[in-house]
Amino acid sequence: MERFSNCTKDDEDEEDNNWEERIMESSQMNDKIINVKAQISSRRPHERVIVHIDIDCFYAQVEMIKNPELKTKPLGIKQKNLVVTCNYVARELGVQKLMFVKDAIQICPQLVLVSGEDLTAYREVSYRVTGILQEFSPLVERLGFDENFIDITSLVHDHQTSQFTSNGAESLVSGHIYLEGSGVLSKSCSCGCYSRLQEASHIAQEMRDRIYSELGLTTCAGIAHNKLLAKLVCGSHKPNQQTTLFPKQIEDLLKSLNTVRDIPGIGSATYKNLTSMNINLIRDLQLCDLSSLEEKFGSQQAKRLKHLSFGVDTTPVVPSGKPQVSYFIFKAIIHILLLDDPQLSL
Ligand SMILES: [Mg+2]
Ligand SMILES: [Zn+2]
Repeated sequence: MERFSNCTKDDEDEEDNNWEERIMESSQMNDKIINVKAQISSRRPHERVIVHIDIDCFYAQVEMIKNPELKTKPLGIKQKNLVVTCNYVARELGVQKLMFVKDAIQICPQLVLVSGEDLTAYREVSYRVTGILQEFSPLVERLGFDENFIDITSLVHDHQTSQFTSNGAESLVSGHIYLEGSGVLSKSCSCGCYSRLQEASHIAQEMRDRIYSELGLTTCAGIAHNKLLAKLVCGSHKPNQQTTLFPKQIEDLLKSLNTVRDIPGIGSATYKNLTSMNINLIRDLQLCDLSSLEEKFGSQQAKRLKHLSFGVDTTPVVPSGKPQVSYFIFKAIIHILLLDDPQLSL
């Protein structure tokens, strides 16, 4: 649940200061980074449009829909001895997800605990969310029960050719812009990504509105030109909000991460290997020699890690499993059956 969600700027601590110091340390290093970035970006325009949708405290929302009385109470979902997620009332009282049950009760004695061991209802609602998203694009990739990546490149293209599009004022983006107000849109990019992302923000809003009106679930969305960045930026405004990342702010988003462990795709085993090479901060990974990474990880993984450190992610959105029958098609079939055969009426 909500893995990698701690990519906000909660912890602007010493590490961040060290980071700045390191930048000052060597202009040679900066030259090196600029070279690598130029190589990568010349090969990779911002051609795709990816939305990452993450359902807020998913299991807790499902339980609150089942039992609306829980909405105003601090609610924790328990699996074994862990609170796997909790609602926002509980969060305000200090409960955090993945806390031990006994610690959570100590912090919040009035915490209502519901068992989350039976996944049936969560699975069903999860697939309904995916079903709604599949009505926007066939390219929907599920990640766990509460997250989906949607590639809407061709939908955005269709929208842009069928209607007059705007010229990029910040107010024309739906929801937040990452580092809003810093003149993000005053500079654009010649590849046209700014207007694509702007259009995508409205589609993401429409997706979230649909999920809310049809299933009663609130979600967050991140909008960017690849999966890595869409997922990273998704967590910057929570809950029930969305954020669009424009390419000029990629560097700032990466800077806001504490360590390479915060990069989706770098798991604990890879992180352990990286720290053994004294690579801990994003900057360390950006600066390290590709050859030493290759020795440790092999050439493919080394290149992938290097790319991730610069916010480059070329992996496609791979549709998950067999296509789900959409909830609405399902309802329409039932409706037709009922019309055709009055005996079937419930
Ligand atoms: Mg979630
Ligand atoms: Zn661009």
